[in-house]
Amino acid sequence: MENNILVEVKNLYKYFPITRGILIQRKIADIKAVDNVSFFIRRGETLGLVGESGSGKTTVGKCILRLHDVTYGQVVFDGVDLAHIPRGQLRAMRPKFQPIFQDPYSSLDPRHTVESIVGEPLVVHGIAKGKQLKDRVAELLTMVELEPEMAQRYPHMFSGGQRQRIGIARSLATNPSFLVCDEPVSALDVSIQAQIVNLLDNLQESMNLTMLFISHDLSLVRHISDRIAVMYLGKLVELASSNDLYNDPLHPYTRALISAVPIPDPAVERNRKRMLLPGEIPSPLNPPAGCRFHPRCPERLEICSKDVPKYQDRSGHFVACHLYQ
Ligand code: SF4
Repeated sequence: MENNILVEVKNLYKYFPITRGILIQRKIADIKAVDNVSFFIRRGETLGLVGESGSGKTTVGKCILRLHDVTYGQVVFDGVDLAHIPRGQLRAMRPKFQPIFQDPYSSLDPRHTVESIVGEPLVVHGIAKGKQLKDRVAELLTMVELEPEMAQRYPHMFSGGQRQRIGIARSLATNPSFLVCDEPVSALDVSIQAQIVNLLDNLQESMNLTMLFISHDLSLVRHISDRIAVMYLGKLVELASSNDLYNDPLHPYTRALISAVPIPDPAVERNRKRMLLPGEIPSPLNPPAGCRFHPRCPERLEICSKDVPKYQDRSGHFVACHLYQ
């Protein structure tokens, strides 16, 4: 195992129990949101995590941040298994790993000034107060390309893109080494999305941040990620460098996702073939046997509905599909 790995997710399972009964609650089934997922992220690397809604990518992000307790498995961050440490130790480590969420407006308290919002983690963790706090907030606002004078304004006085910058400033307040960005731009206008992605890209480089960038938008993920992992119905189906995944996708699901990404050249766009998948992603309550993608896969084999495909390492390009076994 390489020694420059900051985050390692090992055999992660997250099941949400469904219970029935009024006085005595009885478990009747599990929603298998994440089912045996493993990957690592190197220091200073951005790993993109993509998949349709319902693929389990957000649940993976929340398990890493321990906003969900895991059902089974490990989340090793800087040598410490976050999934199993006591709450007190977790709280002490929280400044080192921070989330950036999708909806900047709902994550900013409208009754508080930007100074109090951005400075809150510094107060909570006892890192700064008084003039030191004010100075640090001003520095953070400058880092996200806002004016320090904006610190006394309230969230409703900002545009969507500016609010996301405030959210990013707050996430950076404790000087974290790892960010989990969950659909950080999908609530924003397309024109603003590129600005925020570029800001994250620049911050990642200047602060040597490690990032997990979760999104359903493969073109966005490709722009910012060093490697990309693809999830389908709770399983990781492919993981490779951004270029390898985009130029030589192995899994039929990845090929379908890439074929749906628009190409800016109208002539190429007009003539290329789209791979349309039949149906919707099935329920994680009762996932299909064998390969979970088999009911929608245009290349399925007889074995696909019976056996779960094993994860193959093809020179650093990982894929779980019977076509390669
Ligand atoms: Fe398709 Fe079979 Fe590969 Fe699954 S294992 S993606 S069904 S070919």
